[in-house]
Amino acid sequence: MSEVNVLEMARSQLAMAAKHLDLDPGLHAVLAQPKRQVVVNFPVVMDNGTVECYQGYRVQHNTSRGPTKGGLRYHPDVDLDEATALAMWMTWKCAVVNIPYGGAKGGVKVNTKSLSKRELEKLTRRFISEINIVVGERSDIPAPDIGTNQQVMAWIMDTLSMQAGYTVPGVVTGKPIELGGSEGRIEATGRGVVVCANEACKVLGMDFSSCEIVVQGFGNVGSVAAELAEEAGAKVIAVSDATGGIYNKGGLPIRELYERYSGVEGGIRNYKDCDPISNSELLELPCDILMPNAIQGQITGENAARIQTKLVVEGANGPTTPDADQILSDKGIMVVPDILANAGGVVTSYFEWVQDLQNYFWEETEVNKRLERIMAGAFEAVYSTMKKHKTDMRTAAMIIAVDRVAHATTVRGIFP
Ligand code: NAD
Repeated sequence: MSEVNVLEMARSQLAMAAKHLDLDPGLHAVLAQPKRQVVVNFPVVMDNGTVECYQGYRVQHNTSRGPTKGGLRYHPDVDLDEATALAMWMTWKCAVVNIPYGGAKGGVKVNTKSLSKRELEKLTRRFISEINIVVGERSDIPAPDIGTNQQVMAWIMDTLSMQAGYTVPGVVTGKPIELGGSEGRIEATGRGVVVCANEACKVLGMDFSSCEIVVQGFGNVGSVAAELAEEAGAKVIAVSDATGGIYNKGGLPIRELYERYSGVEGGIRNYKDCDPISNSELLELPCDILMPNAIQGQITGENAARIQTKLVVEGANGPTTPDADQILSDKGIMVVPDILANAGGVVTSYFEWVQDLQNYFWEETEVNKRLERIMAGAFEAVYSTMKKHKTDMRTAAMIIAVDRVAHATTVRGIFP
């Protein structure tokens, strides 16, 4: 998927929802553009004394429903169009689960593998200082994304706190627990995926606890979703990572796979009691639920006709292409779309922010209970909108999201 296409894709999804809602053309034009785009060029002194210049971005799409929220990505392909599309998707994701944020995204065009830890820290502290004119605990709250992690969030929190003169934990989420991070945040996205799968089973007349599940991706989202599915009694028959997959019709021992093989050379493929399969074979296995929890562009016009599942729950962002969507719909396969299925992460980031602002921290059971309530409620709203508009789940999620943002924009009125 090229970067330009990502923005075109985001805009065409908006156009489809706008059509269903008979959205005012002026409002449509406002929502098709980001509110603010910041591009910064900044120097970093490398370990060998030379100076490198980097380009970074922060894009805020919409602030009608609250401050903006979204990740910071460190990757060589990061650019302004990609950040803009991802910011727009964050607006819809926050709106569909009804948390009071607009969307943002940002990042730095950099290959982190070429940096030492000290260089990464200097790059992070300088980048956040360059964009601090638009970031803040009441205005725009970053989070981790590809190439960034808890440590990067800790440096960001520290840098902005040094500049403020006091500790500001609510300026960033995805922090280590000891710096004001939330219990349950690491598992939140996978947990939300499983809540959606469970709710979808109910409306499809399936019993989640007796489903056979295929999970692509065994990272943060995939391993948690697989483990929670196993805990609920379901049988996870195949999992994969970037190196390939493993399959056992009788079920795989997820916790053992995670504890013994994740992060080990060769990964899950070291497990013996299974058949090795490729990632493309894995996607086409007969199963009740397919969870693409790895990367974008996995179910495409090329392979969608061969997908043999009853339900797709998108833990990853953008795993299904628009042409594949149509094929799956024609085959009667329900797709729980990414902006709903993987929203558990941003919901718990919202909880982290609320806890930081109140300086009062919840127990994990409390976090999980609230997360499950929000995710199940959002699923129910999207499902009934799908029925009402006689459409698919992705369009229904977009209809709810765009309607909420458009309504907030209209009630606030256009300043001045
Ligand atoms: P991760 O890096 O922890 O794990 C990614 C997994 O996918 C790894 O097992 C990796 O080996 C595998 N993978 C990479 N390339 C692959 C390929 N070509 N084929 C098959 N597997 C491949 O990442 P994550 O945090 O689990 O995120 C996974 C997806 O979920 C991404 O699309 C991300 O944007 C999305 N997402 C994550 C969160 C979150 O809170 N972590 C929230 C929302 C959405």
